[in-house]
Amino acid sequence: MHRAAIALAALVLLGQVQAGVARGAGDAPIAVIAIIIDDLGNNLAEGQRTVRLPGPVACAILPQTPYAQRLARTAHNNNKEVILHLPMESVESDALGPGGLDSKMRAFDIIVTLNKDLQTVPLAVGISNHMGSLLTQRRQPMEWLMQAITNRGDLFFVDSRTTPQTVAATVAREVELPHLERDVFLDNDQQLSSIRTQFAILLDTAREYGSALALGHPYPETLAFLERKLPDLENSGVRLVTLSKLLSMRSAKRASLRTSAILRIVRGGAKSAH
Ligand SMILES: [Zn+2]
Repeated sequence: MHRAAIALAALVLLGQVQAGVARGAGDAPIAVIAIIIDDLGNNLAEGQRTVRLPGPVACAILPQTPYAQRLARTAHNNNKEVILHLPMESVESDALGPGGLDSKMRAFDIIVTLNKDLQTVPLAVGISNHMGSLLTQRRQPMEWLMQAITNRGDLFFVDSRTTPQTVAATVAREVELPHLERDVFLDNDQQLSSIRTQFAILLDTAREYGSALALGHPYPETLAFLERKLPDLENSGVRLVTLSKLLSMRSAKRASLRTSAILRIVRGGAKSAH
């Protein structure tokens, strides 16, 4: 590419990047977080309390559950993103529930199950794994799954990271499927003091890296904490965003790094011309 064309492309990218960065009061960039509440669909009351949370918390709904369709629509109407919370085999062989994936399935079974699950969770914009400490370690089923999700188009994947050995996000990257990874679990311990500590870790992580993603569950303690905490979150210099927004901000950041690299090449080239 001609150097002037490269410089122009860099400037265009830079403009897109600046448009994608969150700005706080006084125009200072602020850190962002996203939060997903998992395991919705079997209990109407806890699902309804979740979809009424203040702010764009994402709702992860289990497939083929009694209230999946109803909660998906209510969540969407309350400006919440919906994702399919896809059950996957765990090391402990926990009960999968309906619509789950296990290590005996071949590519065809995974595709058929995925398609059926998505029909029961309308308006889903992404998919996350429920459990899956065994299946997400296995490369072959992850390749079949990530390819199947990619082929549907317009969906992203969230690796809940239920095992440090997960290859789910790695495989998603290989097939160029947009994806996120869980940074913090809010409520593995449901005591308020523990949730408060985990939330502080979430904010610290976001401030350090620019953004962070948390998973929680519709426990009364978690929901009560978020109902109190989210309305004045921006006073902490942190903004709650949707998963889609988090993805687009991170891809803008990657473009920014590429732009910086291109600008360095262009400037380096200009210098050597003198
Ligand atoms: Zn789950």
